[in-house]
Amino acid sequence: MESRDKSPCESNVAETARLKASADAELTGADSEASVGVNSTSESGSPLDTRAQVLPGGKVDLERIARAVREILLAVGENPDRDGLRDTPMRVARMYAELFGGLYQDPRCHLDKYFVEKYDEIVLVKGISFESMCEHHLLPFHGQAHVAYIPNGKIVGLSKLARVLELLAHRPQVQERLTEQLADLLMQELEPKGVAVIMEATHTCMTIRGIRKPTSVCTTSAMRGVFKSNLSTRTELMSLIYGSK
Ligand SMILES: [Zn+2]
Repeated sequence: MESRDKSPCESNVAETARLKASADAELTGADSEASVGVNSTSESGSPLDTRAQVLPGGKVDLERIARAVREILLAVGENPDRDGLRDTPMRVARMYAELFGGLYQDPRCHLDKYFVEKYDEIVLVKGISFESMCEHHLLPFHGQAHVAYIPNGKIVGLSKLARVLELLAHRPQVQERLTEQLADLLMQELEPKGVAVIMEATHTCMTIRGIRKPTSVCTTSAMRGVFKSNLSTRTELMSLIYGSK
């Protein structure tokens, strides 16, 4: 059995230092978008390191958000000093700190502890509810995720799958990337025979604004390993998720 000496929920120190330098450069530079850099590659060459990376700094800047929210209120023609709005900027700042708190936590920390078991059939957790924020509109999307894997010696506590999802969802996201990040992270950390993630979500940026289609549901899926290569395994999964009860 492998053992890992990485302490739980602690990000890699070198990685943190590198990201801090990049964030500092961004603060002093002009329009750089280096801090999140979804499509850039990291030093190690693994896209996952960048895509599920942890930001330096440890927390959201509440004062900065509050100043920005006050500006928005002014820009729409409101008076941010009237009674009902006076506390709104800081309230919104605390809300964003919660909704984007996942930027500062390493999702791998929930997968550090595993058990060695010979079980090598599908493990499926169905209907995990989640909420995330669309990075294009900063409006929520919410729905449910079905997460499955076929162990190859390692199993994790079932609640850990939901915790990893929760953490990745608490970042500015698009559903497609969230789905892939979760699948890739489970592949990397559990080294299973396969991983499948299916997400179904309602996007408020489609239901309350723009095209306004309140009944629309977006489904995304990421199949890895045997779920991708083996049709009968994938069919078995689909009947476990959607089959008649
Ligand atoms: Zn959107």
